[in-house]
Amino acid sequence: MKQLLKNMNINNKRVILRCDLNVPIKDGNVLDETKIIKSLETINYLLKENCKIVILSHLGRIKSEEDKKQNSLEPVRISLAKLLNKEIKFANDILAPSTKEIALNLQPGEILLLENTRFLDIPNKLESTLNEKTAKQIAELGEIFVLDAFASSHRSHTSVVGISKFLPSCLGSLAEAELNLLNNHLSNPKKPFTVIMGGAKVNDKLAVIKSLLTKCDHLLLSGGIANSFLYALGLNLGESLKNDNPEIVSELQSLMLTYKEKFAFPLDAIVSSTYNNTTNIKSIGKIEDNDIIKDTGAKTIAKYKDILDNSETIFINGTMGVYEEKEFKNGTTEIFNILSKYPEKVVIGGGDTISALNNLGFRGKFENISSGGGATLEFIANGTLPGIEAIMEDDGIEVLDL
Ligand code: ADP
Ligand code: MG
Repeated sequence: MKQLLKNMNINNKRVILRCDLNVPIKDGNVLDETKIIKSLETINYLLKENCKIVILSHLGRIKSEEDKKQNSLEPVRISLAKLLNKEIKFANDILAPSTKEIALNLQPGEILLLENTRFLDIPNKLESTLNEKTAKQIAELGEIFVLDAFASSHRSHTSVVGISKFLPSCLGSLAEAELNLLNNHLSNPKKPFTVIMGGAKVNDKLAVIKSLLTKCDHLLLSGGIANSFLYALGLNLGESLKNDNPEIVSELQSLMLTYKEKFAFPLDAIVSSTYNNTTNIKSIGKIEDNDIIKDTGAKTIAKYKDILDNSETIFINGTMGVYEEKEFKNGTTEIFNILSKYPEKVVIGGGDTISALNNLGFRGKFENISSGGGATLEFIANGTLPGIEAIMEDDGIEVLDL
């Protein structure tokens, strides 16, 4: 692939770097620096090449003027400056002439962080609807565009897909690593290939489930996703989370018919009762009207373990239960325990799945963690993402591949 940072001649150039610095912030402090630390690899590479660096990122959701107060990138600037042990300039109006002046006067090795790209959404949605004029204006701040925000690459936003129209562009090393992880393990997976799909909402995951069904040997269901399939099979699930939209039900039925031999369903569940707040283990066929399925039972985990032990590639997305509550984290913990015996076979994706991995103490046990959240799932479903497509369309004029 030629549109990679390492193949570009970027020495001394002014580079616009779109990062994912969307970190949790409370009272002006960054609570988790993971994303900032991950971005350092590309930033350090650009510094080594004597680039002048203009960094862009979104942070949080900006729907109103009020949202801006909690979502400034200023705390990220402080954190980044500390990590790099370097002054980071900051401009709070991306499109202001004064910002352009700072960008054009950057010296090699200097960094300018621009304020949250989503501030451009107030009032005219200049970020979240792709706006060519705005993209062109941003492009004027640099000579090369580097997209490193893999986790935002599924968004057709100005700062993701717009700028590459106007500048020679490439993927940064973090985005490249994310692509390689998914391509190397999942585009031509070693068989048997098993997918564990858990979590909450089946309609969020339908596209990725359909795509994976064409490739996998086994699909192990759990969580709210399993509930929706079981409901489509006609089982009583009481008050459990499920999708009962007739169109979705019929789509799930037809998937189960087409890929019958691939599906594995839960045998038992940990349920709480709306009646008396008790928690019980029940067989899946014995769920009653007042029950709410909250976690996957031990018999199911044992059945799934047999399949997993005999698999060569495993992809997991979604948790086995409501892992946020301590009575219902057991199924997820047990599955991670099983997978941690052969981490090299395992690819993990999904925002909550990674949170569960961290919260339940398994982070250090796995290497193949795709941090893209929704972008990871969309990439698996479609084989590409709008941000990546935009880079691939770029013909790299001016900046030569070495
Ligand atoms: P990811 O973000 O990794 O794609 P999801 O958001 O789909 O994963 O899954 C995690 C969420 O699913 C958690 O919030 C968890 O509480 C919820 N969940 C899992 N099992 C159930 C269940 N049986 N009922 C309700 N929610 C569930
Ligand atoms: Mg989630």
